[in-house]
Amino acid sequence: MTSAMRSASRDDLRVAIIGAGPAGMYAAEALLASDHCQNARVDVIDRLPTPFGLVRYGVAPDHVSIRSVRDTLDRILDRPGIRFLGGVHVDDGTRGIPLDLLRASYDAVVLTYGASTDRSLAIPGEDLAGSISATEFVRWYTGHPDSRPDEFTSLLSRASRIAVIGVGNVAVDVVRILAKTRAELEHTDMPEHVLAALEESAVREIYLMGRRGPAEAAWTTKELRELGELADASVRVDPRDIVLGPSSAALVADSKVAARNTAVIDQWVNQEAAHCSRTIHVRFFTKPVRLEGGAHGVESVVVERTEISESGSVSGTGEFETIPIDVVIRSVGYRGIELPGVPFDVQRGVVPNDQGRVLGPNGPIRGLYTSGWIKRGPSGIIGTNKKDAVETIKALLEDLDAGHLPRRRDDSDPTSVITGPVVDTQGWRRIDEAEKELGAQRSRSRTTIHDREAALRVGAPRD
Ligand SMILES: Cc1cc2nc3c(=O)[nH]c(=O)nc-3n(C[C@H](O)[C@H](O)[C@H](O)COP(=O)(O)OP(=O)(O)OC[C@H]3O[C@@H](n4cnc5c(N)ncnc54)[C@H](O)[C@@H]3O)c2cc1C
Repeated sequence: MTSAMRSASRDDLRVAIIGAGPAGMYAAEALLASDHCQNARVDVIDRLPTPFGLVRYGVAPDHVSIRSVRDTLDRILDRPGIRFLGGVHVDDGTRGIPLDLLRASYDAVVLTYGASTDRSLAIPGEDLAGSISATEFVRWYTGHPDSRPDEFTSLLSRASRIAVIGVGNVAVDVVRILAKTRAELEHTDMPEHVLAALEESAVREIYLMGRRGPAEAAWTTKELRELGELADASVRVDPRDIVLGPSSAALVADSKVAARNTAVIDQWVNQEAAHCSRTIHVRFFTKPVRLEGGAHGVESVVVERTEISESGSVSGTGEFETIPIDVVIRSVGYRGIELPGVPFDVQRGVVPNDQGRVLGPNGPIRGLYTSGWIKRGPSGIIGTNKKDAVETIKALLEDLDAGHLPRRRDDSDPTSVITGPVVDTQGWRRIDEAEKELGAQRSRSRTTIHDREAALRVGAPRD
């Protein structure tokens, strides 16, 4: 049935949210909790068979309490009016369902598709075999369906020296996962092939390196402290690295986080070295300038010592060092990618917007909104996406009330335009149960089903 050009209304609103990560789930919750929106219908669409985005495929599996946020997100799916539609890739029709087709079936579309790729280091040798991104590595150890089970098995079995470049929380997660023993990871939901590959890995020396000093590193103290509490890994810091220049000292005086972080690092310098199977070398003022190697892959990373000026800028000192390395994991940030047909700010890797209203060349595009990492870039904690989603939904409802939302052209169920198997909310619940059963077989609360086809078989039975 085709509707006349009436504008949409709150009691008959139909919204599609593209991406079932925290931003998408919080946007759905904010919408359905709004006044007079009890009858609204919200479809949260994801290209993966499972919801919750990086809460499943980013947050470190050994951070069990943070990962339990998914239980909170899962309860949102219990609300009347919301449907999860998993396994549905939205694009321009090349690989998945065209966004334009969806826009015709909904009064508004909210883009919450996250930041799925990585930033590059932009140094020679970055493309050598054995130079991988934290994005790929995190996907593998969390059991993301896009990663192959054996993707890093042989690399880890050969790599005794690994460099992790970057000093954010993701880099710390990667180092911790590499340094932990099987016993320390056994309780997690990691797939069995990941646990086995990590247990059999040859990793002995892990270098965590960043261009700036201990005061400037962007990690939380709790995460940092954990590195010093591992069962069979010790931390080493060069005493030279804890000498702070004037701008770093001012930062420590001003910021509680910087003060706490530097205190943890000072302790590591002063502690007696324990005899452990693995050593984590935390290296500050260390800028990788190139990766060296050959057909077999990376063999070393050449680094330059840096210094921080009084104004806080970083520059090279001309002091170079070559560190033999078997694998390099680059962890210098996530980055959003363009959804064909949607405006995109290439510089920032985000969808340009004003409080969530997607901006085209002539101002806001009617009925198109955005939230989460693709709206503001990869920053903040999970909870930041809630406030962000509330802002976007407020803008959407203001536009709706002002008569600025064009009513959907097509009133039929939007799933009729979706081809291929779809995992709905009940299908996701079946996957959830299957993961819990798999976990129970190994005395764990859950084991992630990493295989897309297996998840689809359970979640989207074909008749
Ligand atoms: C490695 C890592 C560890 C982290 N650890 C923590 C932590 O410990 N604590 C914390 O507070 N925060 C953590 N974060 C940050 C947190 O995960 C993010 O703030 C949050 O996930 C961003 O939410 P989002 O919904 O914008 O994006 P995402 O969570 O990325 O969700 C986007 C969703 O969109 C889907 N999608 C993408 N493209 C399409 C498409 N074309 N069609 C359909 N669906 C699509 C994706 O499959 C995904 O499910 C971590 C992030 C990373 C990367």
